[in-house]
Amino acid sequence: MPNMRMDKNPMPAQDPNVRITNVEEVTLGYTPETAIDEAKRCLNCKHKPCVEGCPVNIHIPDFIAKVAEGDFAGAYEIISLTSSLPAICGRVCPQETQCESKCVRGIKGEPVAIGRLERFVADYMREQGEAPLAAPQRNGHKVAIVGGGPAGLTAAGDLAKLGYQVTVFEALHVAGGVLMYGIPEFRLPKSIVQHEISKLSNLGVEFVTNYIVGRSGTIEDLESDGYEAIFVGSGAGLPNFMNMPGEELKGVYSANEFLTRFNLMKAYKDDSDTPIQHPRKTVVVGGGNVAMDAARCARRLGSEVHVVYRRSLEELPARKEEVEHAMEEGIIFDLLNNPVEVHPDENGNVASVECIKMELGEPDESGRRRPIAKEGSNFLVEADCMIMAIGTSPNPLIRSTTEGLETNRKGCLIVDENEMTSRQGIFAGGDAVTGAATVISAMGAGKKAAAAMDQFIQKKVRENA
Ligand code: FAD
Ligand code: SF4
Repeated sequence: MPNMRMDKNPMPAQDPNVRITNVEEVTLGYTPETAIDEAKRCLNCKHKPCVEGCPVNIHIPDFIAKVAEGDFAGAYEIISLTSSLPAICGRVCPQETQCESKCVRGIKGEPVAIGRLERFVADYMREQGEAPLAAPQRNGHKVAIVGGGPAGLTAAGDLAKLGYQVTVFEALHVAGGVLMYGIPEFRLPKSIVQHEISKLSNLGVEFVTNYIVGRSGTIEDLESDGYEAIFVGSGAGLPNFMNMPGEELKGVYSANEFLTRFNLMKAYKDDSDTPIQHPRKTVVVGGGNVAMDAARCARRLGSEVHVVYRRSLEELPARKEEVEHAMEEGIIFDLLNNPVEVHPDENGNVASVECIKMELGEPDESGRRRPIAKEGSNFLVEADCMIMAIGTSPNPLIRSTTEGLETNRKGCLIVDENEMTSRQGIFAGGDAVTGAATVISAMGAGKKAAAAMDQFIQKKVRENA
């Protein structure tokens, strides 16, 4: 008999007053007993609507049934058929708009906590010391992956499992992409990301770090080096700004710079090589996950933090859970406001941010109500730090150094239904193609591209036979 309780088992979490003084993970995960209890809420529906909601089609009811039986290794095996990064997805995927939004238990109560169960299974197996997959026999062909984010890592893993010699070229000193430099430790511990990457090394994937494709070497160089197909998963790491007066002042950061200093360079530690300002009062501009992460990091540096967002709470695009956590941590939401100018102090540092009040008009092309400035409503917010989190675009370096790579007007690479770009043998996926999106969509693209790259190479082999 399924457990017909209406609510999900709650996720234990660190006390907000304690967690703003550390960078440890906020949510603590289910115990085996809670996981089994939650799994029993699943009705094992015949038509499996939750699976349709998952971009990589994890066999959700099957893995949950294994959890309900207490067979966590069996559950992990089922998840691993379709997902290579479950400990990560279980933590950061927006399940509320994906699998859980389709769960029939959500009609009259809360959906089954699919994400929490996925995280539990992956964590349990890691803590038990899951047996590493052996490197498969090589098939004699080599492929290159540009960028070590979730798109590149997924493509690398799938191709290595098929026997390819895979090399990942990564611009930074560690692989992981946004998982390492963007999403903070308190949401996604870096040891978990590195554990996933070590599994790829065990499969024989080689990582060449500090290698910027377009500077250290070009795509053409990789082709000349004998890579038979190349996957570009270089993300969308170029920050957008508003071009308002004062954005060049000391104390104004892009969210990417601020988060990279905080997460990758561990600037919160006293002995970090990367200094970071410990602001007194921070204005974070934007309302997405990136804004929430920047705000919560600034809070952990001891700052009072205001999130300035031009629409209302209803339109705020960040995950609900992140907004709730941010609010619990004392972050102040200044909604229906927009910055128009940053004013300096006598030393050229940020002293205040001038904002204007907004009201909502008719829906725009995104379906959200258009924010309209209320003339004459300008006011000053005193602040010594401002973080811009209003979106990112793909970096133009690769497209500007590679002949014949077509992009759209937003600078995103254009691919066909097989993730192949306008250049034969060069595939792409993740944020480099879609613009800033999600971890799971980047993984889905990496998976699809890996299958297409395999077909592309095998077709050539047959033609040359
Ligand atoms: P990335 O993760 O950006 O990885 C690209 C990699 O390519 C990087 O390592 C980069 O250094 C490397 N690279 C770039 N150019 C070159 C070059 N020329 N040569 C070699 N290497 C290069 N999504 C969610 O699903 N849930 C969340 O909670 C969430 N929170 C987020 C929080 C933040 C702060 C940010 C910034 C994003 C967040 N996202 C979230 C979005 C998600 O992280 C991205 O959609 C995802 O990481 C995209 O994966 P990717 O592999 O395409 O690119
Ligand atoms: Fe279980 Fe919900 Fe999926 Fe039905 S929709 S199988 S209840 S997780």
